[in-house]
Amino acid sequence: MAAEEQVVWKADSNNIYERFIEQLDEAMSGEKELTEGDQDTRYALKLQQERLREKGTKLRYHITPRGFTSNGQNLPRKWKDKHYVSEVAYYTSMWERDIAVGNGRPFRQKSKMTIYETKTDVIGGVNVEDEIYVCPGCGAPSKIKDLLGGCQYCGSRFQMSELYPKITSHYLVKDFSFAGNEMKYYLMKFMIGTGIVILIGMLIGMASRGELSPLRIGSLIGTILISAFMGVVMGYFLASITLLFKLFFEAGKTVPMMGAIGAGKRFEAFMKRYSPEFSYEYLTGKTVALLKMIMFAKNPQELPFYVGAPLGGRFQDLVDVIFRGAMGYKGMREKDGYLHVTVDVFLENAYVTNGRVRAGVNEKLRVTLVKNLNVPIQYNFSIKKLECPTCHASFDATKNKTCPYCGATYRIEDADWAVESVTVM
Ligand SMILES: [Zn+2]
Ligand SMILES: [Zn+2]
Repeated sequence: MAAEEQVVWKADSNNIYERFIEQLDEAMSGEKELTEGDQDTRYALKLQQERLREKGTKLRYHITPRGFTSNGQNLPRKWKDKHYVSEVAYYTSMWERDIAVGNGRPFRQKSKMTIYETKTDVIGGVNVEDEIYVCPGCGAPSKIKDLLGGCQYCGSRFQMSELYPKITSHYLVKDFSFAGNEMKYYLMKFMIGTGIVILIGMLIGMASRGELSPLRIGSLIGTILISAFMGVVMGYFLASITLLFKLFFEAGKTVPMMGAIGAGKRFEAFMKRYSPEFSYEYLTGKTVALLKMIMFAKNPQELPFYVGAPLGGRFQDLVDVIFRGAMGYKGMREKDGYLHVTVDVFLENAYVTNGRVRAGVNEKLRVTLVKNLNVPIQYNFSIKKLECPTCHASFDATKNKTCPYCGATYRIEDADWAVESVTVM
C-alpha cells in the first residue's frame, strides 16, 4: 500500500545504532563513509565495493526501522575484556535492496529484516590512553593519547567521543514477525478485499434477477451489511490460511538449518574456561565478518586471517551476502595448544554472472576456525592494528605480511581467530 511505503525515518542523532543504520544506506552505494563503523567494518565494506565496481554493479540499501526491540533475553548480549565492553542491540526493520547491473533495471527485493549491531565502548573509568587505535584520518595505528594530541603521521586531532563507541559488527537476518499495527493492516487488507468481492458478487446476482431496479434502499443496506460481516469472517479465515502457507513455505527453507541450532553448549562451556566472557554470539559475529571479507577479497590468500587453500573463483561473482541467522556448531579439536572449531554458516547470497543478477541463493558453508588457546581473546581485536609478537609495535596486517618495524613474521592465530578452511556444502 502506497501509504506504508512512504515512511520517512530519521535516525536519532544521540543513538549510535540508529546513526549506523542511516549511514549504512549511503555507505553501501559509496556516497558516504561509514564513520560509525570500526576500521574492520569499513575494510569489509571496501572489499565489497571493489567487487561491485569490478562487476559493474550498483547496490543500494534502504533500511527503515519498524521498532526497537533490544534487550532480548534469550542470548548473552554483553561481553567485556580488560578495557572494552561490547553490547548487542537489534532493530526490526523494513529492508529494500536494489541490485543493478550497468544501466539496466534494478533487481528489487523488499523484506522484513532484523539488524543486529554490536557496539564497542571503553569501560567507564578505564584509562585507555596507551591503547592502540587506528587513526581515522590516515589509517596508521597510534596510541590514543597521540590521537587526542594530534596524530604524528597526519596531524589530525580527535576527541575521545570520535574514537568510541563504534559499531564493531553487524548483520541482517530475515524476520517474519508482525510489529505494532502490521498484523491489523494485514488482516484488514484481507477483510476489506473479501468484503468487496462478496458485495460485488451479491449485486451482480441481484441485478441478474432483476432485483436492483426499482432500487430499494433497505435491501441495498442489508446487502452491504451482509458483505461487511462476511468480509470480516471470511477475510480472517483467508488471511490465516495464507499466513499458514507462507510460514510453511519459509519453514521449508529453514529445515536444513534446524539441526544446526543450539548445538554449541559444550563448546561454549569449554571456551568459558579460557575466557569467561566468551559467547557463541560473539563467535557468530566474528565468523560472519571474516567470511564476508574472504568471499569479497580478490585474492583471499592475501588476507592475513585466511590461512586455507585457494578458493578458486568460487565467490568471484558474489555481490552481496545476508547471514540467515544460524550458525551450527559441528565440532572442535585441540592440538598443540591450538583450537580448531568447525561450524556451518547459512547464508543467502546474491551473484552477478554475465550481467545477470541471481539473488536469494541459499548456501551452507562449512568453516573451520583456528586460534591459539593460550592467548586471551581480545574482544576488541582489529586486523588494522596487529601487535607484533616480537617488538610489540602495531601495524596494519592487511598491508604487511611481516612486521614493518622489525621484520618478524607472525601467525594471526596467535592473536585472534583465523579461518583455515571454507567449503560450500
Ligand atoms: Zn593520522
Ligand atoms: Zn616487530
